Amino acid sequence: MNRPPLDRPLFERLALIGVGLIGSSIARAARAQGAVGSIVATARSAATRKRVVELGIADQVAETNAAAVEGADLVIVCIPVGACGGVAKEIGPHLAPGAIVSDVGSVKASVLNAMAPHMPAGAHFVPAHPVAGTEYSGPDAGFAALFVNRWCILTPPPGTDPKAVERLSEFWRLLGANVEIMTAEHHDLVLAITSHLPHLIAYTIVGTADELAQVTRSEVLQFSAGGFRDFTRIAASDPTMWRDVFLANKNAVLEMLGRFNEDVAFLTRAIRRGDAEALFDHFTRTRAIRKGIVAMGQDSPAPDFGRPHPDLPTEPLPAGAEDNEKTR
Ligand code: NAP
Repeated sequence: MNRPPLDRPLFERLALIGVGLIGSSIARAARAQGAVGSIVATARSAATRKRVVELGIADQVAETNAAAVEGADLVIVCIPVGACGGVAKEIGPHLAPGAIVSDVGSVKASVLNAMAPHMPAGAHFVPAHPVAGTEYSGPDAGFAALFVNRWCILTPPPGTDPKAVERLSEFWRLLGANVEIMTAEHHDLVLAITSHLPHLIAYTIVGTADELAQVTRSEVLQFSAGGFRDFTRIAASDPTMWRDVFLANKNAVLEMLGRFNEDVAFLTRAIRRGDAEALFDHFTRTRAIRKGIVAMGQDSPAPDFGRPHPDLPTEPLPAGAEDNEKTR
């Protein structure tokens, strides 16, 4: 963690609705940092609620969303974006006066529109998106360090009490995140290109290769140590979550997809015409972007994205083999 745990909690009682990767990571990190006095959690299914008890990551597990939010001064809804409106309707009448209500959805404008009408006067609604995750789901997948050095974007609607925004910012900073504030619409446009479109491309390319695999048999899998392997990791992300993201951020994704298709057409033409300069210039520009991301501390500079290489020989290579390696 970036900061030492607190002596006094920022919030007395945190209610988590949904305890998957994100909800369970918040529970673990909030407890590790002493950010909250107690944690009450709930999930849609009895199986997940039971697992949360077994994992011991909450002080209390409630049977219903309404029961979970009773007396909580911070409520964070950690479920797929398409389900947020219905849950807001359920919890609205049970919120404590002055409670801060937030979410973690990967799309913000649709969540804001779906949840805001159900927030009672006196509750402070501050939507949020921690830009951190893995391809795994469920309460076992979470870990306390998930948000360290990652961004958490808050999108408070106009007129939100600045003190509530600052308290929630402080909570996320305590969990290790860097906090940025922007409008929901701006968030959705930025994330469409940095997150949603890459996922769409990964889902597409893995699907295409799968169809190809019928033709080439196992070769697609056998030689997947190249770029394809990284696409398969992204394409393993939760289908429900990503279905909801594309439905909820339709306009921004379609806008970015239009631009992307234009650029693919440009590169297609360059390849067809043998335009070496156009290809080289383009790849040089993208290489600089990768260096920028590493320089900002958002990824590892280690070769192969920092993956361990357990299968490489531990003994020094025989004389002469090193040169062969380099020219391979
Ligand atoms: P997850 O691991 O699949 O967990 C989802 C949780 O939501 C589970 O507790 C599940 O309950 C509950 N849930 C699912 N459908 C529901 C419904 N219709 N009504 C009520 N509860 C429902 O998902 P996650 O990765 O934590 O994602 C949660 C949210 O975080 C999503 O909005 C996503 O956009 C956002 N987010 C995800 C990532 C990421 O990389 N995964 C990153 C940033 C933000 P059961 O277990 O009982 O089914």
